Amino acid sequence: MGARPKVAFFEFTSCEGCQLTVVDSLQTHPELLDAVEIVRFREAMSEKGDDYLIAFVEGSISRASDEAQLKQIRERAALVVALGTCAHLGGINTIRNRQELQSVRRYVYGDKADWYETYPARPLSAVVPIDAVIPGCPIDRGEFVAVVTALLQGRKPWLPDYPVCVECKLKENVCVYQRKQTCLGPITRAGCDAICPTYGDGCEGCRGLIPNPNLSSMKNVLAEHGMTADETLAKTTLFLTYQMMELEAGTDG
Ligand code: SF4
Ligand code: SF4
Ligand code: SF4
Repeated sequence: MGARPKVAFFEFTSCEGCQLTVVDSLQTHPELLDAVEIVRFREAMSEKGDDYLIAFVEGSISRASDEAQLKQIRERAALVVALGTCAHLGGINTIRNRQELQSVRRYVYGDKADWYETYPARPLSAVVPIDAVIPGCPIDRGEFVAVVTALLQGRKPWLPDYPVCVECKLKENVCVYQRKQTCLGPITRAGCDAICPTYGDGCEGCRGLIPNPNLSSMKNVLAEHGMTADETLAKTTLFLTYQMMELEAGTDG
């Protein structure tokens, strides 16, 4: 058997839940451990190799000093994969991007606010080119296995470009709007098997927007179901702040 591709895991600002999901995936798919050599993975081992083909990077970039490390990872890896919503879209850390940074810092760190460096949180792709993403907060185990398999076979990983509603309808769920709840399923990328509506909650958009989302229709639907403009903004702030601000600025491709 030839040398196995070396892979490494890194984290920036994150809860490390996506890396824990990777550990879980490796337990249910041990064949992956035969297919790759893990040279760095702080959640699971103490070694720290610097020679790797694929870098899986979790977390958003939330301070200027993170950028040098990410660029170094980019230089060393042939493939960089954004692991989870924080890395893919800036994620939950971008909630602060709509607020005045110094007041956020004071809220969190009090009179020690000036001790801590920070800047508006952003996805990896705002700093370096990335080769693939695994969406979700946290990532889906099956999707992680599918993405790794595709990369090892030299294929571009496939992601659905249709909305969560498609999967929700295929599961024959009762739409949560029928129960006077709200849901971002019509504008959110599928791939999670509509897990939140299936268990009775509206989608919060953790997998990011579909290409060309119809935001004005979405806002109208939310307004028809009693949400004010402020509540609608809050609804899209949990996971979608970075993408929404890019669209508002007219810079999103
Ligand atoms: S995407 Fe969610 S689970 Fe993953 S690191 Fe970020 S906050 Fe944690
Ligand atoms: S519950 Fe959400 S995802 Fe399901 S059909 Fe209704 S709007 Fe779409
Ligand atoms: S239903 Fe929405 S919030 Fe829930 S996992 Fe899927 S994309 Fe994320």
